[in-house]
Amino acid sequence: MLQINNSSELQYFLDVLDLIGQSTDDYLYFYDLDRDYYAISERATRAFALKDSRFYNASSVLGNLFYPDDAEYVLKDIEQIHKGIRKEHNIEYRWLDKYGNPVWICCRGSVIQKEDHPAYLVGVITELGKQNRIDKITGLYNSGVLRDRITFMSEVGESLAGLMIIGIDNFKGINDWHGSSAGDEILYKTARFIECAINDAVGNAGQVFRLDGDMFAIFTMAPEITGNSDGFKKIYKDIRSRVDAYMEESSYRCFYTISAGSAIFNIASTTADNAIMRGKFALHCAKLAGKNNYVAYNEEVHNEYIKKLDIQEELRRSINNGFEGFEIYYQPIVNPATNTLYGAEALLRWNSSKYGFISPALTIPILESSGLIIPLGKWITLTAARQCAKWRETYPDFRMNINLSFVQLLKSDVLRDMVDKIDEVGVPHDNIVFEVTESGQLESNKYTRSVLGGFSDSNFKLAIDDFGTGYSNLRYVKDMMFGLIKIDRLFIQNIDENEYNYMLVKHVTDLAHSLNLKVCMEGVETSKELKTVMSLKPDCIQGYYYDKPLCRNDFECRYMHYNSLVKTVITDDL
Ligand code: C2E
Ligand code: CA
Ligand code: CA
Repeated sequence: MLQINNSSELQYFLDVLDLIGQSTDDYLYFYDLDRDYYAISERATRAFALKDSRFYNASSVLGNLFYPDDAEYVLKDIEQIHKGIRKEHNIEYRWLDKYGNPVWICCRGSVIQKEDHPAYLVGVITELGKQNRIDKITGLYNSGVLRDRITFMSEVGESLAGLMIIGIDNFKGINDWHGSSAGDEILYKTARFIECAINDAVGNAGQVFRLDGDMFAIFTMAPEITGNSDGFKKIYKDIRSRVDAYMEESSYRCFYTISAGSAIFNIASTTADNAIMRGKFALHCAKLAGKNNYVAYNEEVHNEYIKKLDIQEELRRSINNGFEGFEIYYQPIVNPATNTLYGAEALLRWNSSKYGFISPALTIPILESSGLIIPLGKWITLTAARQCAKWRETYPDFRMNINLSFVQLLKSDVLRDMVDKIDEVGVPHDNIVFEVTESGQLESNKYTRSVLGGFSDSNFKLAIDDFGTGYSNLRYVKDMMFGLIKIDRLFIQNIDENEYNYMLVKHVTDLAHSLNLKVCMEGVETSKELKTVMSLKPDCIQGYYYDKPLCRNDFECRYMHYNSLVKTVITDDL
């Protein structure tokens, strides 16, 4: 039988209890029923609404710690222990954590008799569900607890709350490159930096959580943050300087940066999911803006994004619905030397049943980022190739220019797809010109180089589109088997008045010709522009001066009935 006879024996007993308590996740406690004195593992003060780990007046302090709904039931159990009716204590109920949220615990204990009455209760408190609530790597509460906390606080009433989501940039790369234990160390350190930063700013009024992967969250209702548009920004900067200092200390052994997104919201009218979604969206924007960055949530930007996602779903639906609403328009390309039709560029049009007509300037990037350009690209090629076959009956040399996106070059077996579609229709390969927008990636990516080589070997013609707007180097254009360069409209606009553009286009054209490359001037709109451009002897011209892109019917009416000059009026103008 355990005997505690004096205060030094009690002290010794409590020290032993503390020591054992360090090697378990549970909390060990000792309750001196006679003196109403309570002692519990020190760690409990960090988890529960307890100031000290040892205190007198235990029944009243514990009474305040119990979740109000459970208090009566627990106090009754303790009363029965006092009276000696019960010798064991084994109940599950809720304590309040230090933020006032209920936490389910299991409290087990045995009574120790002294002489003939129950004198002590000694036992263990286990946090139920703790395993599922605490992140093992960082020791922080996880997203489930964050959700509970936001939901719990929403019942308090109208009040502003703030959430900042912090992400480690390129975390996957760190894991791949330095190993997962280096990744874990960075997570652990970052968790501490975030804790210190929020603690310095608002003390206990801000809590840190670990979300999935490389993400952390700070939740606070402190007015210093929620009432100040720069509040979270300052905390982000503070965390960043702690990360920087750590990098320096560790001699940049493992370099990383962080990004963050924040949202301030009314806790009463925002669900936990919605608040987290806003924070994550702001983080997404920070990463899009180049990482190592902080962005505050903006509703308009979010609505735009939602609309884009919706457009993406509409595009997917249309594609799966037999390419409903899609149409190809054709813009004539003219050979100015003979004033005859050289061919046409196939341009995508989409008339959505939900949004009406949407410009390709908006749909193409969505089609590219979603990968939908792959199935649609095959349909575009098939449709344009069929049209080319038909129009070749009038113009045997008719060239159909088809745009190929960089994503198509990267993601699919694009050459085989294109050959299949074109051979299905029976158009000679050299009547098809594939236009590729110039980009530095074309040159640096070995895979796309070899894909383009395959196109050229299969006798397709290749054109570099929008020349001058991106990475412009005629030598690489030549090396990459392009036979035609299309000079962007930007340089043609007002070329009759803009000396600089004129000289630029002249030099590029001369140089291209000396390299045996053909030149197409895009976006010629006025007769003055045409006249200037003609003096540079381009091989072909495309622009509103001749026609806007036309639907199949209009193109046929305008160009297929007479094998005639395109627009005789030009010659009169010149
Ligand atoms: P792009 O390939 O540079 O196509 C030429 C664009 O310039 C077309 O815009 C055309 O209507 C416009 N344009 C032609 N002449 C003039 C002119 O004189 N003045 C003015 N202001 N504009 C002129 P559109 O049809 O809106 O297409 C925009 C872009 O969308 C295209 O630029 C191309 O990058 C992309 N795109 C269109 N269709 C397809 C497609 O089937 N596949 C792919 N991958 N991209 C496409
Ligand atoms: Ca084009
Ligand atoms: Ca172009």
